[in-house]
Amino acid sequence: MKEEKAQKKKTLIGLGLVSGGLDSLTACLLLQLQGIKVIGLNFTSPFCQYGKDSGQSECRLDLLEKKLGIELHYLPLNNDYLEIIRNPKFGYGKNLNPCIDCRIYILRKAKEFKEEINADFIFTGEVLNQRPKSQHMKALEIVEKEVGLEGKLLRPLSAHQLKPTIYEEQGLIDRKKLLGIKGRSRKIQMELARKHRLLENYYACGGCLLTDNSFTNRMRDYLKSNENLILEDINILKCGRHFRYKNSKIIVGRNESENNMLLNLKKQKDLILEAKGVPGPITIIQGEFDDEAFNYAAMLTLRYSDLSESIGQVIFGTDYNDLSNEKTVKIENEKNLKKHIL
Ligand code: SF4
Repeated sequence: MKEEKAQKKKTLIGLGLVSGGLDSLTACLLLQLQGIKVIGLNFTSPFCQYGKDSGQSECRLDLLEKKLGIELHYLPLNNDYLEIIRNPKFGYGKNLNPCIDCRIYILRKAKEFKEEINADFIFTGEVLNQRPKSQHMKALEIVEKEVGLEGKLLRPLSAHQLKPTIYEEQGLIDRKKLLGIKGRSRKIQMELARKHRLLENYYACGGCLLTDNSFTNRMRDYLKSNENLILEDINILKCGRHFRYKNSKIIVGRNESENNMLLNLKKQKDLILEAKGVPGPITIIQGEFDDEAFNYAAMLTLRYSDLSESIGQVIFGTDYNDLSNEKTVKIENEKNLKKHIL
């Protein structure tokens, strides 16, 4: 019987939700140190500021692969995630971050994935009371219950603060080798990472745009103005200056790189405007627009260009290689131009 348990312990596979941050790194390490095979699952999200595709170095998912030899899997969020942001069952955090619903959504998907890969249990790098909205005791319990993982969701970093999971009770996971961290300090995690030569300095990871004040104004406008929510639409919300003018959305590039991004991200029917004869931004108009909205977009285009007079021309069309339409526009109500900024 003892041999059987030892055999099972050797082959136990834990599926970890990993963000690339210090907490998930050390949670994985703790389990590896007791001989558990760890597989990592990362959700790629347009709201993650340091995601796999963002080019930001703060996301250290690479450490999991390079230093701990962990096999990583990536899953995208789907459009239904946006419905959760629009209407979260458990409300928002400080901004537009529906943290409890977000954890539930992600863990539901992780649960399905665990079945697909035949892992034995799911764990996270969550730390009790580290985040006020989503990591207090009640929130952790709600998440477990909603996902149907009561007693089955391991949080190795805070295990001693929480009820034992069934795996600890059955002796498959050694509770003594887990930790009892609570609160915001990363001191213990950092010591552990240094001791095992994973890294020397703390790095912040996992910045979520839904907690960012300026981004959430745009996001609120998007949720209000669109019936069908599409994850792909989020990328353009991260680029340029955004204005809401009646039913139209106007986006003005702030530099060459954003101009190029806007041209890549625009939809086929979106209108492109550019100042004629002077360097300036690419402006995109999305949605329905009338003459007034067009004029407003044209004035913004000229105002953010190198034009020094108050009258200029814009060229426009839906294909950047064929901006064959032209209009002369006078910049009026200069002071009010930014009134509609999001
Ligand atoms: S901060 Fe963002 S990614 Fe993290 S739980 Fe909250 S909503 Fe989800």
